[in-house]
Amino acid sequence: MQAPSFGGVKIPGGNGQVIRLSRGASLSDFGDRIDVNPASLVQVMMHLGEMVTATQSLPDETLQLLGEELNYVIQVVSPEDEDRELLESFSIEFGEDEGGDEDLRARPPVVTVMGHVDHGKTRLLDAIRNTNVVSGEAGGITQHIGAYQVATTVDGEERRITFIDTPGHEAFTAMRARGAQATDVAVLVIAADDGVKPQTAEAIDHAKAADVPIVVAVNKIDVEGADPQKVRAQLTEYGLVAEEFGGDVQFVDISAKQGINIDGLLEAVVLTSDASLDLRANPDMPAQGLAIEAYLDRGRGSMATVLVQRGTLNVGDSIVCGDAYGRVRAMLDENGDQVQFAEPSRPVQVLGLTNVPSAGDNFLVVKDDRVARQIAQQREARERFAQQAKASRRVTLDNWQTTLAEGERNELLLLIKGDMSGSVEALEESLLKIDAGGDEVGIRVIGRGVGAITQNDINLASSADAIIIGFNVRPEGKNSELADRMGVDIRYYSVIYQAIDEVEAAVKGLLKPIYEEVQLGSAEVREVFKVPRIGNIAGSIVRDGIIRRNTKARLIREGVVISENLNVESLRRFKDDATEVREGFECGIGVGYNDIRIADVIETYEMQEKPRD
Ligand code: GDP
Repeated sequence: MQAPSFGGVKIPGGNGQVIRLSRGASLSDFGDRIDVNPASLVQVMMHLGEMVTATQSLPDETLQLLGEELNYVIQVVSPEDEDRELLESFSIEFGEDEGGDEDLRARPPVVTVMGHVDHGKTRLLDAIRNTNVVSGEAGGITQHIGAYQVATTVDGEERRITFIDTPGHEAFTAMRARGAQATDVAVLVIAADDGVKPQTAEAIDHAKAADVPIVVAVNKIDVEGADPQKVRAQLTEYGLVAEEFGGDVQFVDISAKQGINIDGLLEAVVLTSDASLDLRANPDMPAQGLAIEAYLDRGRGSMATVLVQRGTLNVGDSIVCGDAYGRVRAMLDENGDQVQFAEPSRPVQVLGLTNVPSAGDNFLVVKDDRVARQIAQQREARERFAQQAKASRRVTLDNWQTTLAEGERNELLLLIKGDMSGSVEALEESLLKIDAGGDEVGIRVIGRGVGAITQNDINLASSADAIIIGFNVRPEGKNSELADRMGVDIRYYSVIYQAIDEVEAAVKGLLKPIYEEVQLGSAEVREVFKVPRIGNIAGSIVRDGIIRRNTKARLIREGVVISENLNVESLRRFKDDATEVREGFECGIGVGYNDIRIADVIETYEMQEKPRD
């Protein structure tokens, strides 16, 4: 077959050969696989009408399109598929209950609390934690491990519910983005005195996209002016119709602050789950599930809270969790008590992993430590390769200028995290006031928030090529490592003006330089020589300054500029080439312009960069 040709670029055709590429691969990855210079692929893409850089991560369609053009069959492999294949190579299947229907047992629902900021998510999780403790524990749940289980009585039967203890959509979406779903039921908290707000709508979208049933907790009914009925009416517009209005969504009026009707909410969760879900899992198999939260404890090492989704996790099991592995040395529950085993829907804190996994990583029990280590190492290697490509085009406050010069961007994107909402707002306001030089470059804040720098922040910054500003906050857990690996620049400040100064300096650096003309010297033409094949040379005397080769020149006749933008192409003293000739000396100057006459003046100059003030 003839090699396809694109505007002169010749690339050997693939003859239908199958190439597997990781999702989000770049032209550079593609080039590596087919042994073609990525620059040629950039040209092919241009030919196809798309401008992409060699290291840019590409959507599946683009990879397919390029593949077709070059006669390759492209298979885009998602990270989940890659992982599945890895586990298959160890004869492990993740995500499926072993055995048949008769092996499945009912398991408690796992609940995430979502809703608009300040509508009472945290307060509700506290209220549930403090009042409905699994039998026998006095004083409420004391430990924060990222999830907890409570018990409630429905129709005379004790029923358990597992709550993910990190409110908000972050945890929910971060896990979903990684193909993991921990949540069975979403509790949507809406303050009755405030009604539907943007994040309420966002929460509904997330839950619907994940196909998770919603229970609506109409909160703050103790507040004067609270109007729970209005909330019901508002939500019908979002497709959430209360049972009393003929729909199938449970609405429960509560006060998280005063502890009113928390039991009613728990009952609604159980009933909703019974009505719309068949939550069962096989407890008799090696455990599998997800990491919910993890950190490094100085004394005890890696502390990872995992949610068992199927099987039973036992002390002594060999497990692999993301790229961490080890043997379960001990397990703690939300009361800080040691437990020997954990069944489906049970969250437990696991001690004994080699390092700290990330939230959303899957965990599974394997045959022995050796298998655990091999899987963990292969995952780690794959992750490292994937990040290398990204890191190679990392944008930092320091290299911002070069990025701009390459014409890639004229906007500095920032993500601000701070210790208090007041300081975040103040910082954002001041940063946006920085005069970045009119329309040439801009600062855009793509996200802001209070609290430690999370994995979500780093993911966002990485995908947008933004810089994270941490004001009195640090990355949580091993996120600083993650940021490094993903090539995300995090800047830490504790004084606002310092942050402003540095961002301002970086932004000024972003500005295209201003050039000004600096006079170098002038020479008067005394004689004109014709040089074959080169043209006319001006035999001149330098009147002032210096005439230097390769500088700019203009030709002036009787005070009028005859020609601009010439170059001092040749410069000679007698028979020798010279780089520069000083005032008072004679020389031959060639400026690539033939209409030179005696008494003309050759003026030379240079464009110098002028500092901005
Ligand atoms: P989140 O941002 O959704 O987690 O909201 P928080 O749980 O932090 O609550 C925001 C504010 O509302 C706090 O000052 C809470 O004390 C208050 N709050 C939460 N629930 C109630 C409630 O039922 N009644 C009243 N009066 N205030 C509440």
